[in-house]
Amino acid sequence: MEQEIKKPYKIQSAKIMKEIMGNYFLGMKDTTKKMAWCTSVGPAELLRSFGFEVHFPENHGALLGATRTATDLIPEATKLGYSSEICSYLTADVGSYLKKQTPLTEHYGLEGPPKPDLIVYNTNQCREVQDWFEYFAKEKNCPVFGIEPPRYVDEVSNEAIENVAAQFKALIPICEKASGQKFDIDKFRETLRLSKEATDLWKKVLWTARVSPSPISFFDATIHMGPIVVLRGTQMAKDYYTTLLKELEDNVTKGIGFLEVEKCRIYWDGMPIWGKLRPMSELFAANNAAVVASTYCNSWVFDAFDPKDPFESSALAYTEIFINRSERAKEKILKGLIKDFNIGGMIFHEAKTCFSNSNSRFGMPLRLKNELGIETLVIEGDLCDLRFYSEGQTTTKIETFIEQLS
Ligand code: SF4
Repeated sequence: MEQEIKKPYKIQSAKIMKEIMGNYFLGMKDTTKKMAWCTSVGPAELLRSFGFEVHFPENHGALLGATRTATDLIPEATKLGYSSEICSYLTADVGSYLKKQTPLTEHYGLEGPPKPDLIVYNTNQCREVQDWFEYFAKEKNCPVFGIEPPRYVDEVSNEAIENVAAQFKALIPICEKASGQKFDIDKFRETLRLSKEATDLWKKVLWTARVSPSPISFFDATIHMGPIVVLRGTQMAKDYYTTLLKELEDNVTKGIGFLEVEKCRIYWDGMPIWGKLRPMSELFAANNAAVVASTYCNSWVFDAFDPKDPFESSALAYTEIFINRSERAKEKILKGLIKDFNIGGMIFHEAKTCFSNSNSRFGMPLRLKNELGIETLVIEGDLCDLRFYSEGQTTTKIETFIEQLS
């Protein structure tokens, strides 16, 4: 009798996503459109409502990490005086600019990221973005605006919302000048509505992983989050997540997951190691360990968006993100995820160049282990700079951890 050959699990919608992301980058060739640069959890909806196309330097940083070109580019930035221990998105992106090397050339025929008409950052994630974006504002002789919300909040107070909403409003005349368009509240509401619908769908996509076997892993999610990062506020992002969600829900109905049998379910904390996504994903899969939850991918879930109240709701949504919360608030969020996703073990990635997104430094793993009896593991690495990552050592640590969990 002929043996049935099983096809490896693949998310079919990935083809559509590649096309959408490709068109997004190719669209940057159109120099007739006004271009804004924005941090990944910055006010993209407000910018889009003025007709700006939006470039996200962190997305470029991740691309430099994923293509493993970052490690060669970072020394260019350190020659300028940047420490090699600050954000490797920043140092890789600045290095790419100085060395005039980017994977955008090979893949999309672009000389580099598009020239900005306006640069906007939000320090809700870290102070590094301020230095990074101010550097380029100077280099490109471009207006720059920073939103500076209260940091490390327990809960977001009404005063904080008013404060941030006022900063959003202060951005309006600068956008009007740079875009040549008057502010239109209805356009802002409409962009926010699209963004809200896309982000709701993205949340549902991530939530399909609560089922066992899960139809999407953390590693898949880091790829499929592309449109919610760079295209939120557009119909394209909404349509994409409608398609992806349908595929994943169908797989759940049929009982198809990325692993046939899940020996254990793991939460990943912190940044991905972009240059090692595939071997990492394969390592866990080979050990039947399902990495199914993260706060990283949840960073683009904005429950609070409300088109009826666009300024205040955006202020709340962008201030209450995980990375901007107190240790106590983070602990509460993590406990919720452990329960919702039926997690048996947690891996904390201590990214050497991202202090803000490494949550193992103030005793969190031990506290959670003591309180919940959950197993935790801290691994050292980095988002882009592979000099901080030891593959052999980490593989052994992870394999031992999985054995322990199983
Ligand atoms: S959060 Fe971390 S990785 Fe992101 S820009 Fe800030 S320092 Fe860099």
